[in-house]
Amino acid sequence: VKRLTLWATVGGGILLITGLLALGSTIGTPSANATRGFALLLASCGAMIVAVPLYVDARRMQAEHQRAENSKRNLMPCAACGAPAAILWCTTHTQMLCPNCLPRHDDPLRCLYKSLRRGPVPVGRPAGVSGRV
Ligand SMILES: [Zn+2]
Ligand SMILES: [Zn+2]
Repeated sequence: VKRLTLWATVGGGILLITGLLALGSTIGTPSANATRGFALLLASCGAMIVAVPLYVDARRMQAEHQRAENSKRNLMPCAACGAPAAILWCTTHTQMLCPNCLPRHDDPLRCLYKSLRRGPVPVGRPAGVSGRV
């Protein structure tokens, strides 16, 4: 698939350049309308052939990157906003929360948090310390 992309890029590039060169050669010769049209067609075909595999490749790489990123950080969707950035688990309400939604959700009298990640919790209240039941 990688090789196909390379060939498509090279072939499309050659088409594009040929088309552009042909287009350039028709400048100053008003009678060369047919050649100009053909050159434009060549150039646009070439551009498309270059763009499509690049686009497909970019989309696939983006999707792979996203997936790798999510699984690497083990990010869970936030219960409040749905963003895959939850870092805390409220054991009282059994909800996962991201840093943005935590202040809105936070009920100092009831909420008890567990960090979903290792390392320090980046909010004022450390995991499991607060919460009077
Ligand atoms: Zn959120
Ligand atoms: Zn809560």
